[in-house]
Amino acid sequence: MTAEIIAIGTELLLGDILNTNARYLSRQLADMGISVYYQSVVGDNVDRLQETIENAMNRTSIIITTGGLGPTTDDLSKETIAQVLGLPLIEHEESKKRIVDFFKQRDIPMTENNLKQAYIPEGAIVLENDNGTAPGFIVKTKNNIIIVLPGPPSEMVPMFEKGVKKELKKLNEGVIFSRTLKLCGIGESTVANILQDVIDNQTNPTIAPYAKDGEVHLRITAKTNEESKAIKLIDAMEQKVADHVGEYIYTTDEKTLEETIVHIMKNKNLTLSVAESCTGGLLSGRIINCSGVSDVYKEGFITYSNEAKMKYLGVRKDTLEEFGAVSEETAREMAEGLIDKCDTSASISITGIAGPTGGTEEKPIGLVYIGVSYKGVTTVKKCNFYGNRQKIRTRAVVESLIMLWN
Ligand code: ATP
Ligand code: MG
Repeated sequence: MTAEIIAIGTELLLGDILNTNARYLSRQLADMGISVYYQSVVGDNVDRLQETIENAMNRTSIIITTGGLGPTTDDLSKETIAQVLGLPLIEHEESKKRIVDFFKQRDIPMTENNLKQAYIPEGAIVLENDNGTAPGFIVKTKNNIIIVLPGPPSEMVPMFEKGVKKELKKLNEGVIFSRTLKLCGIGESTVANILQDVIDNQTNPTIAPYAKDGEVHLRITAKTNEESKAIKLIDAMEQKVADHVGEYIYTTDEKTLEETIVHIMKNKNLTLSVAESCTGGLLSGRIINCSGVSDVYKEGFITYSNEAKMKYLGVRKDTLEEFGAVSEETAREMAEGLIDKCDTSASISITGIAGPTGGTEEKPIGLVYIGVSYKGVTTVKKCNFYGNRQKIRTRAVVESLIMLWN
């Protein structure tokens, strides 16, 4: 089973919008074990769209298009696809009713153009649009299945979930099951090295590492007809991986690092306070993004200036003068000051130079000190990150989470 994704829209070619539809659909198809062979982007142009569809029909079995289903004259996907397939467009009563209702409910005037959207190629399976007016549809031919979806992700994604997934699953005999093991505190190439034999000698399940924001994710994928069989295969592979790099695995479900930490801390009745300098709230933002965090996260300070570090955290003037704001000593006093002031079981402090200005030979851009205080012990780590300001700040946040997790 092979597929091509065709994103339709001149604004994609102009770089005005990012083709997130293709990314979403590719991930979904990969999860279902359908190989995406091509992704195409084509403008709102009948001839080129026609050519693109014909090419796709010749080289893959499943074709998914997005975009160009709207009511305006530049929206011509449906007409062009119907033409390529030699199918007439027929008014679909149910869709017409939904479009009329859509406008009535919102009390906005409907134009004749909108009713154009109720026309569907003869014999197509209609996909209801719960979030807009244009229905999508699926046409099956002798060699191909053509799935036509609207452009806006807010309409396309729910339509895919509701109407398309089950159709695709019917086509696919072997079903794919996968699990992602998430690792932190170890680099992608180190993981790949350690697991080289395991990775090279696997066909079912397969295992693939990829790096993500300072973490390494290992995706184990099994293809079988039965879920219980797949789980056995995946469990065995997980065990093999754990034998080699088990200490770095922080989760085997979909949780993020911060969600895992919040979950653990909550179960142990532990609380957290945070002081950030160069990351300016990024760490707090990530932690507070987790649901159920209120039992864990107590207070956070953005102490950017030296004055703030003294005022809110009790960092000593002498320390700042002797060692500087970006130093092991300051990070330590920040973390310990937090425990003092906030009475939490753990604390994190971050102080560093994110650039692009402000670096010196002795303290270059990317130098970040991270302090973690827990059970009366404070650990400070000196990190040398590279990259631009945003990247350095993100890496500092991830590293601080890893330190806390450890
Ligand atoms: P509409 O009824 O809104 O006109 P449509 O099906 O005709 O829907 P388009 O006109 O092609 O879709 O695109 C509408 C909007 O949807 C775009 O302006 C863009 O914001 C978003 N969009 C379209 N294609 C993509 C894509 N491939 N990836 C991400 N967003 C997209
Ligand atoms: Mg449009």
